[in-house]
Amino acid sequence: MQAPSVGGVMLPRGNGATVRLSRGASLMDFAEKINANPAALVSVMFNLGEMVTATQSVSDATLEMLAQEMGFILEIVSRDDEDRELLESFDIDFGADEGDEDELMPRPPVVTVMGHVDHGKTRLLDAIRKTNVVAGEAGGITQHIGAYQVTATVNDEERPITFLDTPGHEAFSAMRARGAKSTDIAILVVAANDGVMPQTVEALNHAKAAGVPIVVAVNKIDTEGADPVKVRGQLTEFGLVAEEYGGDTMFVDISARQGLNIDQLLEAVVLTADASLNLVANPEQDAQGIAIEAHLDKGRGAMATVLVQRGTLRVGDSIAVGDAHGRVRAMLDENGNNVAEAGPSRPVLLLGLTSVPRAGDSFIVVDDDRTARQIAEKRSARDRNAMFAKRPMRVSLENLDQAIAAGDIQQLNLIVKGDVSGSVEALEDALVKLDVGNEVELRILHRGVGAITESDVDLAMGSDAIIIGFNVRAEGRARTAADKEGVDVRYYSVIYQAIEEIEAALKGLLKPEYEEVRLGSAEIREVFRSSKFGNIAGVIVREGLLRRNAKARLIRDGKLITESLTIEGLRRFKDDATEVREGFEAGVTLGSFNDIKVDDVIETYEMREKPRA
Ligand code: GDP
Repeated sequence: MQAPSVGGVMLPRGNGATVRLSRGASLMDFAEKINANPAALVSVMFNLGEMVTATQSVSDATLEMLAQEMGFILEIVSRDDEDRELLESFDIDFGADEGDEDELMPRPPVVTVMGHVDHGKTRLLDAIRKTNVVAGEAGGITQHIGAYQVTATVNDEERPITFLDTPGHEAFSAMRARGAKSTDIAILVVAANDGVMPQTVEALNHAKAAGVPIVVAVNKIDTEGADPVKVRGQLTEFGLVAEEYGGDTMFVDISARQGLNIDQLLEAVVLTADASLNLVANPEQDAQGIAIEAHLDKGRGAMATVLVQRGTLRVGDSIAVGDAHGRVRAMLDENGNNVAEAGPSRPVLLLGLTSVPRAGDSFIVVDDDRTARQIAEKRSARDRNAMFAKRPMRVSLENLDQAIAAGDIQQLNLIVKGDVSGSVEALEDALVKLDVGNEVELRILHRGVGAITESDVDLAMGSDAIIIGFNVRAEGRARTAADKEGVDVRYYSVIYQAIEEIEAALKGLLKPEYEEVRLGSAEIREVFRSSKFGNIAGVIVREGLLRRNAKARLIRDGKLITESLTIEGLRRFKDDATEVREGFEAGVTLGSFNDIKVDDVIETYEMREKPRA
C-alpha cells in the first residue's frame, strides 16, 4: 500500500494528524491546510468516484472521505468556534469582559416574561412600562423597540431592570437556538383563575434548560375564582417551591389589569438577581452584546435594537452585527429620545447599519469601519458556504430511527401549522392518539393557524422539532432559514396522509434489531510489515467475500483471538478494493490491530437490521 499519488507526485499523508475545516469548506481550503496542490486533491476525489471542483463547497461526507483517504482526522469546526476564531484573528475576545475584577461594575438584570397564552404577559409588560413613566414624558408615549428599562426602588435604592418586550419563550428560545444568551431572569406569568397550563410548563422548562432563575407572577388575582394558593401547589410539582413554603422561588400575586403589586414584582426580580446571580460587566471597554430585533425602515434604512452586554456603545462607533456592519449614526431609547451612549444591559435602537441583522446575532464594536466590514463579510461568506454544503439534517422523518438508536432523541417534537384552526386541531388530536410505544414520546411543541414563520423554524431548531404544514407553506425568510438550518418541513393537504407518514416514521423509531450476517473468511498466507500501516495480512479468500469496512474476527487454531475488528484497508495488488471474492488474494489491514500470524483465519460479517414484523 502506498500513499495516494497523482502524476507521480506524492501527496502529503496525515498519519492521523487532525485537519480543522469549517462546514462547507472546499478542496482548496483543504489543500491549503495540508500544504498540497488543490488539483491533486481533485484527482484523489475523482479516484474515489466523486467529481468535484477545487473551489466548490463540499459536504461533510466528502471532506470526511478525503480526509480518511489521506490519513487525516477531520474535525468540522462548529459555527460558534469558527466565529470565535474569526474574531480572535482580529484580536477580539467575544463574550468575556476585559480587565481585572475591580473593573467590573454591577449591571441591571435582563428579564423575559413567559407563560401560557392569555395569562397576561402582554398586559403585564404594559403595566410595568406604565408604572414607570418618567414624569413629563408626554403621557408616556413609548415606542416599541423590543426592550425597555424601568427602575424599581429596593431598600431606598433605585435599581434599573431591563425588560425584553417580546413576551413568550419562543423569542427567548429563538435566541438561544442561535447561541445567544439574552436573559438573566424569567418572570413566569400564571393566571390565578386558570392555573398551570401546558405552555406554563413549556416556558418553565425552557427557562430551566437555559439555567435562568424564575420569579412567578400569579396574575389576575382580581378575577372571581382566582386561587393563587392552588398555583403555588401546582408549581411545586415542577420544582418551583415558594419561599413561604420553604423553597427559594419568589411568588408575587398581581393584577396586570389593575396595576396591583407591580412594584413588589419588580422588587422580587431585583432580590432574586441579588441572591442568585452576580451580574457585573466592564463598562469601560468597546461594547459587545446582541441584537434583539431588527427591521428595515423605509426612510431610515436598517434598524436594529441591540442589548449592550458589556462596554459602552457610542454614536460614531464602528460596529459589526452578525453579517451586517456600519457606523452608529444615532441611537434612540424606548421613548424615542436620542442617546449618545449606552452601557451594560441598556437596550437601544441603532441606526447606521448597511443591512438588517437577525435577532440573536452578536454585535461588537471594533477599531475602524474596515475591520467591521471584514468581519461582516467573512461571516456572510461562511454562512453562504454552510448553506451550499447542505448541512446534515437535524431530525427528519427519514432519519428519526437513527436519531433514536443513537440515543439523540427520546421524543419526537412537532410543530403543527394549518390553514384553519379546525384542521390543526383535528391533526393534533389524531397525532396525540397515535400509539407510539414507550421508547419515544410524541410532543406537540407549538400549533397555530397561518403560514410557517421564521419563529416556527427557530423553535424547531432549538428543540430539534419537525414542522408540519397543513395546507400552509413556509415562504420567504422562513423557507430560507429552514433550508439553511436543515429543519425538516413537511407539507400535507390530507390529514390521514400526514398521520400515516408520521406513524410509519415512529414505527421505525422502535429500536432496530440487528442480526449478524456472515460474509466470508480468508486465510493469512503471509504477513508484511509496514512502518506506515503496521502489519498487512496477505490473504486468500477461502469462502464468500471480504468487504472493506466490514466487521471481522480473528481465529487462530480454531480459537477466537479477538472480535470486533474492522477491515480498514483492502487491496488487490496496488489498488484499493471494496470487495474481494472467493479464490482471490488480497492485502488486508485491521486498523491498529497487529497481532496476526500466518495461518490465522479472518472471518468477516456485517450487522444487518432485522425487518420488523
Ligand atoms: P398574553 O397572551 O399572555 O400576552 O395575555 P394578554 O396580556 O394578551 O392578556 C390576555 C387577556 O387577559 C386580556 O384580555 C387581558 O386584558 C386579560 N388580563 C391580563 N391581565 C389581567 C388581570 O390581571 N386581570 C384580569 N381580570 N384580566 C387580565
